[in-house]
Amino acid sequence: MIDEGVLIVGGGLAAARCAEGLRRLGYDGRVRVLCGEAHLPYNRPPLSKELLDPAAEPELPALRAGDWYAERDIEIVLGSRASQLDPSAQRVTTEDGATLFYGKLVIATGSKPRMLSLFEGHANVSTLRTLEDSQVIRGVIAEQGKLAVIGAGFIGQEVAAAARAAGAAVTVIELEQLPLIGVLGADVAQWFADVHREEGVELLLGTQVSEIVGDGRIESLTLADGHRVDCDHVLVGIGVAPDVAWLESAGFTETGVPTDELGRTELPDVYAAGDVAAVYDPFLERHVLAGHWEAAARHGIQVATAILGRDAAPTPLSSFWTDQYGKRIQYLGHAELADNVSIDGDPAARDFVAQYTRGGELVGALIVGRPRAVGELRERLRYMTERTPV
Ligand code: FAD
Repeated sequence: MIDEGVLIVGGGLAAARCAEGLRRLGYDGRVRVLCGEAHLPYNRPPLSKELLDPAAEPELPALRAGDWYAERDIEIVLGSRASQLDPSAQRVTTEDGATLFYGKLVIATGSKPRMLSLFEGHANVSTLRTLEDSQVIRGVIAEQGKLAVIGAGFIGQEVAAAARAAGAAVTVIELEQLPLIGVLGADVAQWFADVHREEGVELLLGTQVSEIVGDGRIESLTLADGHRVDCDHVLVGIGVAPDVAWLESAGFTETGVPTDELGRTELPDVYAAGDVAAVYDPFLERHVLAGHWEAAARHGIQVATAILGRDAAPTPLSSFWTDQYGKRIQYLGHAELADNVSIDGDPAARDFVAQYTRGGELVGALIVGRPRAVGELRERLRYMTERTPV
């Protein structure tokens, strides 16, 4: 009988945490991690933050050294991508023609950045997901090139902040009237806009690129409002989609791989964790794509627990952090549910807490420069995570 133990397809944070969790919980079967990239599992947050500093050493922010996996008998297969899943045969095929059988499969292929078709085919355009992508942007910043960033989400904002910190010129172009207004509301979104402008970012809001000037290489962008933006490089930061290209034949789409609270999919012996997984959230009563670091790390461990039939941890609280202009900004909960926001502190000094409430109850918080407030706010939001998985 073929049972090759646990096969983890991915090779990012969720995959690494799942493999670690299996060994920590005493699993002694075969554990293989199929990594699409040629690198050991690594941390992505530094790619849009400290690793963009031209003065920093461009080292791989590996989660663990190679020996660490070998010492725990975790097989890491680098630079190999799954191309197909056949759940009835418990078999994964790779792009290089290998066939891998599994007893349990963990889908942890993360997400991939969205691209706008308008920009395709131009040399000086990129997205930011991998170490190599980060090095491209770092190179532009180091040469003091003019950077145009499409999208004022967290990635776009962090790159803008890193570029300004290194003295490079940056223009951010955002379709919405204010950055992140849909999630954080007008007051906090206005604060983000003000901060970037104070730091010298050219922030163009409520507009989009209508035309590209340049043949093969973009020289400038013409916006819908007629504005012209000269640039040496364009970063497209308009969000991500679950990386399910290899799962099409298994019926999964870009809405993600639906799982229950424990990470179990509807397919027998198949689990999913991290950005690719649409995990059922008992508080919101729907499947949710998390897209954030803490969720990916916790899902990875959760799946290890579920595979071994151990007690499950509560659903993690939705959380995110971003570092901009030397400040740590933390976000907890679900601000989008709020009917009111109150601000305590001094936004102009970049030192405040925004509390989002619904019917007077706290549903989310944004914390700027006050790390000590985080613990108490987490505690107050714990009720969102307390429904025990079944
Ligand atoms: P990933 O880390 O994306 O790993 C998935 C891996 O699977 C990739 O290596 C991919 O190449 C591989 N893969 C894909 N398809 C296949 C295949 N067919 N076969 C084999 N392998 C495959 N979150 C925060 O909370 N705070 C932050 O400040 C923050 N900053 C970020 C900055 C950047 C630049 C990025 C890109 C993300 C950031 N995030 C942040 C989000 C966080 O890093 C992700 O949520 C987390 O990396 C998700 O982990 P994952 O393991 O699900 O996916």
